[in-house]
Order: sequence, then structure tokens, then C-alpha cells
Amino acid sequence: MNQKALGRMRASEVGHTCSTESYGLLKLWQDWNRTHEILSLKWLACRGGARVGSPATQQGLAIRDRLDQNARTTKVAVFVNRRLITLFHAMPFSSLGLSPALLAAIEREGYSEPTPIQQEAIPAVIGKKDVLGIAKTGSGKTAGYVLPILHNLQQAPVSQYREPTVLVLVPTRELADQVQQVFQTFLPALSERLVCLAVVGGVSINPQMQAIGKVNILVATPGRLLELVEKNAVRLSSIATLVLDEADKMLNLGFREELKRILALLPPQRQNLLFSATLSEDVSLIQKGLLKNPQVVKIAAETDEIDLIHQLAYLVSEEKKGPLLRYLIKQGNLKQVLVFASSTLKADGIVNKLLKNRIHAAAVHSKLSQETRRFNLQEFKAGQLPVLVATDLLARGIDIEFLPCVINYELPRSPKDYIHRIGRTGRAENPGEAISLVSPAEMDHFQVIQKKMGKRVKILSGDLIDLQGY
Ligand code: ADP
Ligand code: MG
Repeated sequence: MNQKALGRMRASEVGHTCSTESYGLLKLWQDWNRTHEILSLKWLACRGGARVGSPATQQGLAIRDRLDQNARTTKVAVFVNRRLITLFHAMPFSSLGLSPALLAAIEREGYSEPTPIQQEAIPAVIGKKDVLGIAKTGSGKTAGYVLPILHNLQQAPVSQYREPTVLVLVPTRELADQVQQVFQTFLPALSERLVCLAVVGGVSINPQMQAIGKVNILVATPGRLLELVEKNAVRLSSIATLVLDEADKMLNLGFREELKRILALLPPQRQNLLFSATLSEDVSLIQKGLLKNPQVVKIAAETDEIDLIHQLAYLVSEEKKGPLLRYLIKQGNLKQVLVFASSTLKADGIVNKLLKNRIHAAAVHSKLSQETRRFNLQEFKAGQLPVLVATDLLARGIDIEFLPCVINYELPRSPKDYIHRIGRTGRAENPGEAISLVSPAEMDHFQVIQKKMGKRVKILSGDLIDLQGY
């Protein structure tokens, strides 16, 4: 976060105004003091037109306290040596209406400031509004709904419910596990004993049938949820809040029937929260009854921002993709790289070739057992497995901290999936690299992807690289 702020400052040089953005003023102050000789630093907070200034010599902490006292939308201007260097909105978590217990847990988690989507979504969800949340990959959408949902559950007397009141639907088992873990991060902070369970397919249903009786928050993939409903293991008639994470995917043809069946089981009066990086403000959602009078929270990617994902492509003949991949891994000394393939068969083929060339690799795709999928993803996240080859199953939502590199062995069919795939790197303000291996036959499609993304990608010739021995 601060690194980015610093990078931008250096790039823009003192004297230019940076775009509005929220980051920790305290950190900013500390970093600047470390790296610059500041003769005078002045900050100015504007609220409702009134200006409150503070002299430069004040401690960062004091500035922070002052910000905490201010209500939402505090505009902060930072001057260095009388020049405006940045102007941004500072908004502490404490201004969003969350309970003290949750604020303490957020601090323990090390989140210093809410991300832009969290700033907007959290008060809206607390206010029981329907929300359509659109923000780029890795921008903290999960906590954007998890935190206010927990806040609201704390306010409601839980004992009155014997059925789950919150349902989060996600497209993949891996994402269900991950969302459940985010709930689990914050649950212990609450005095009420709330239980969150993820129910997914591919594993035995019996333990889920036993556990589901005492659950307040249910995170599920649609298929397994319907199985549990059919077995009378759970009723959905008390669901007060429905979340569709990766909402555009959940509304896709592939999930349409299952989603329709699930929606029919929910009370019509409920709060609906839809989140995705690639979702349009679609009136049909309102017509379908999926959103009522929603608050639309759309965080546009800042165009003048240094993009944290560095994208690159190699034009390379199909038969040279394998050697080029191995070249990139070995030459780049890549220790953690996620490779996307177009099919389960292709993914297995890539893994086999890598293993033959003594590069430790494993796959995650739908033809593997859930245990293997979980194990391989865990090993990869833990840094034990340098190369994970996956299908688009892992394209959405999966959060791998500090993942430095994503390689598209083949392009995805949908430009949206391209955005999601590369979004596995460059998360939570960390830099990342996304490399695509594009065959001549894929070139037209790559142009379409770039156009949809609104960004040009530098294309190098892969065939010019000496791949002898790879
Ligand atoms: P998205 O769903 O928007 O793609 P996630 O919710 O998976 O993104 O969050 C991406 C990462 O950002 C996670 O590792 C999460 O812990 C981290 N994160 C979320 N909110 C904050 C915050 N306010 N400050 C710092 N890191 C955050
Ligand atoms: Mg997400």
C-alpha cells in the first residue's frame, strides 16, 4: 500500500497532484520521513468546506487521531515544502459504523484502512440495503460484505433462529473454502457464538448434514446446497441476506437452473448483495427480483494509476509453448507461478512435461479428487509447490498472497476470464506479472481481449528466443 503511494510520488515528483486515493496517512508520513528529507510537511483536512490545518512537526499519530475524530469523507491534502503532493480521502475503519469488537479484529488482521469498495459497501450493508458492488480483482470485496454481515448478525438476537440466516453462493469449492476462512478470521472476535460452514461437492455429504443444523452463515456451491435441501438437512426459509460472490458467473447459463431453484426457496423479503470485478449495472437484475432499489457501488480502476499487474505477451508457435514456459520458469527463477490451461487434459499434459523436465508441478482441475485439489492448492499457497497448473476453475476469486506471476499457456475464451486470471496476481496493492503465450491462431482473439480490457499489452516474439535445451 505505502510502497505504491511512494512509487507514485517518486514517479510524479513533488509538485504534482496525485489522484485521490485512500491510504494510510500515518504510513505515508513515516515512509516519506524515511526516504525524503522533508523540510516541512503540512496537511490540510477539508470537511464540508471547512479547512483544518496542522503544522508539519506534528507526529504522525496525532494526525491519525485527528482523522479518526472526523466523520466520513475527510479530504486530506499533503503539502511538502509548500507544494501539494497528494490529495486523498482518508477514511478510517472506525468511521464506517462497525462494532468495536470487529474494529479490534480488523486491527489484529493488519488492515490499516478500508479499501474503496469497503468504504462504500460496509455502511450500505449495515443499512440493510441491497448492494451491487463492482471493483477490480484483489480489492477486498470479501471483507466488504463479511464485516457488515457479521456486524448485523451481532445486532440480531441469534438464538431465535434455528436455521441459517446468511447464504453466500460462490461458483467453486475452492472459493467457498476461502470465503468461509474470511468469516472464520473475524468470528472469534464476536461475543455471540456464530457458526459459519462451507458446503461443497466432491467430499462426503454426511459430515455436512450433521454440521449444518447449527449454522448461522452458510457458504455454498449451488449443487451441494440443493443436495442438502433435498435430503431435508437444511431449510432456507430464514435467509435474511443473500450474497452472490462472482455474481456475473453465478448468473451465467451454467448456474442458471440451480440458482433459480435456490432463489425459489428463499424468502422474497431479504437483503441481496452482488459482488464481482466484471459485472455490469444490469437493469435485468432488478427485473429478476435479484436486487431491490440497490445501492450501486462501482469503483472505477484509476486510469492514471501505475497498474500493479505488469502484463506481457509472447507470440509463439503452438509447439514452442512448452519449451518457452520452461524457459520462463527457469530463466526467471520463478518460485511461485500459476499457469492457466484451456482444459483438464491440457493441464495434465503441461504438468507431465514440467515434471519430466524436473520442474516440480501439480494441477488443480475438475477431474481431480477434492482432496487432491485442496492439497495442491494448499501446497502452492504455502510456497511448497513452485508451479500450479489450473483450468479457469481457479480463475475467479482465489486469493494467493504475494503471488508474483501468472502465465496464460493458452488464452481463455472469455475476455472477462482473462481479467480474472491475471487478477490472481497484483492483489491488495502488491505488484505482479502476467505473461500470455499467444499462438498466431490466437492473435485475433488477443486483440479482442486487449480491446475489452481497454489496455494494450506489449507483445514480444517468442520464436526469437533460443529455446535449445528447454
Ligand atoms: P476481491 O474479492 O476483491 O478480489 P479479496 O476480498 O479476496 O479481493 O481480498 C484480496 C486481499 O486483500 C486479501 O488477501 C485480503 O486479506 C486483503 N484485504 C482486504 N481488505 C483489506 C484492507 N482493508 N487492507 C489491507 N488488505 C486487505
Ligand atoms: Mg472475491
